[in-house]
Amino acid sequence: MHKKPYLPQKTCLVCGRPFSWRKKWARDWEQVKYCSERCRRQRSAASDADTADSDKSMR
Ligand SMILES: [Zn+2]
Repeated sequence: MHKKPYLPQKTCLVCGRPFSWRKKWARDWEQVKYCSERCRRQRSAASDADTADSDKSMR
C-alpha cells in the first residue's frame, strides 16, 4: 500500500485544466481560480473589457 499526499485540485477558469494546490497558494487557496499568472492576467484583461463595454451599453 502506498500513500499519496493529499492535494486539493481545482480547474482553471481560463484554460480548463486541472491544477493542484501549491504552497504559494496556502494563504488564499479559496480565491485561486487560475493555474498560472498567465491565465489570471488573461482572464482579468478580458473582464476589464467586458465591464467597460457593458457600462457603455447601459447608458
Ligand atoms: Zn490556466
